[in-house]
Amino acid sequence: MSKVVIIGAGGVGTVVAHKCAQHPEVFSEIVIASRTLSKCQAVVDAIGKSHVSADCVDADSVAQLVALFKKHKPELVINVALPYQDLTIMDACLECGVNYLDTANYEPKDVAHFEYSWQWAYKEKFEKAGLTAILGCGFDPGVTGVFTAYAAKHYFSEMQYLDIVDCNAGDHGKAFATNFNPEINIREITQNGRYWQDGEWVVTKPLEFHQPLNYPGIGARESYLLYHEELESLVKNFPSIKRARFWMTFGQEYLTHLRVIQNIGMARIDEVDYNGTKIVPLQFLKAVLPNPQDLGENYHGETSIGCRISGLDKEGKPMTYYIYNNCSHEAAYKETGMQAVSYTTGVPAMCGAIMFLTGQWRKAGVYNVEEFNPDPFLEAVAANGLPWHEIINGDLEL
Ligand code: NDP
Repeated sequence: MSKVVIIGAGGVGTVVAHKCAQHPEVFSEIVIASRTLSKCQAVVDAIGKSHVSADCVDADSVAQLVALFKKHKPELVINVALPYQDLTIMDACLECGVNYLDTANYEPKDVAHFEYSWQWAYKEKFEKAGLTAILGCGFDPGVTGVFTAYAAKHYFSEMQYLDIVDCNAGDHGKAFATNFNPEINIREITQNGRYWQDGEWVVTKPLEFHQPLNYPGIGARESYLLYHEELESLVKNFPSIKRARFWMTFGQEYLTHLRVIQNIGMARIDEVDYNGTKIVPLQFLKAVLPNPQDLGENYHGETSIGCRISGLDKEGKPMTYYIYNNCSHEAAYKETGMQAVSYTTGVPAMCGAIMFLTGQWRKAGVYNVEEFNPDPFLEAVAANGLPWHEIINGDLEL
């Protein structure tokens, strides 16, 4: 029986709150907090349970976070605000003796760059404080890292090639919208690509490499090589991997809009002067784009995310392995009022919290998800709405 504070009441925070509320035997009290109290209150009202309440915090301020944690005394904070807030929340956790879990690694506001070094630097501080920090516990990063750990534990003596494949075959009926925070999403996609090959990173131009890949139950979709944060920890934690890549599908319409947005300067993250007011074009764009939280109602189709791995099996024979989940936008919306991208992130965050609170993923320090036992987590993920499937020695296409 434990109290948690969820920071962030967007698409992901809403799913986390709904899912945690389904497990009162683990989450005895749930507080959801963001800058806007009314958004948190709306989630609380939709859930309608007396052990779920709302509060308000600006998570850019360590002082405000410390006051929030002192007021509620949570055992764990689930950070599903934006990546900009990771370090302030970790600082406040250290000050108040609160454990930490997030779904996206730290990113400074003024540079479109993300890497784990900033958060890994907290390892010793968390160890000394006897606190656990679990990093990247959404779907990707998150389940994809645990899928990889599961493959290493049960199937491979040597994993050699890893391709993480992320397909959204859903249709929300809008000309252009992003499935999670548009600012974070566009910053991620417009960066150079990067993949791991023979001990070093190979840099590609944004979306330079692409090919059609077949997704179970969906069919062929053009898939683009991107850099994604879990590659950084996975090649460190599984050093036998010779090549690690990440692929994501995009439709032509989406890419055309993205190109125009970039060409006209709306993807810029530096400040411009507009009639005497400083604005960041990408933040302004976010204000006029559809809110990802409102996409769910008319969203049809499925997401399909998984890991395609090849290498040597436990007997030393060549083997391929594909482990994946398909998630329906309609089913996610019916259950939580959010689409599948928020759902596939929120369910693993809740499962990671269960792993910590039940003592199965609890060790002092800062860890990526693949450093814990994958079995109970994947069992929980399947039982809570994200069943997964395996294809052994099929064609990986990669
Ligand atoms: P949204 O933009 O929908 O929601 C973000 C929430 O964060 C809002 O409720 C906002 O609150 C809150 N927030 C922002 N700044 C602050 C602040 N300074 N203090 C307090 N609260 C703040 O984003 P999503 O729900 O789509 O995404 C949430 C996180 O999940 C992101 O970090 C994203 O990168 C990550 N993610 C991870 C995935 C994975 O698979 N690992 C996939 C998808 C997303 P308010 O409106 O009140 O300001």
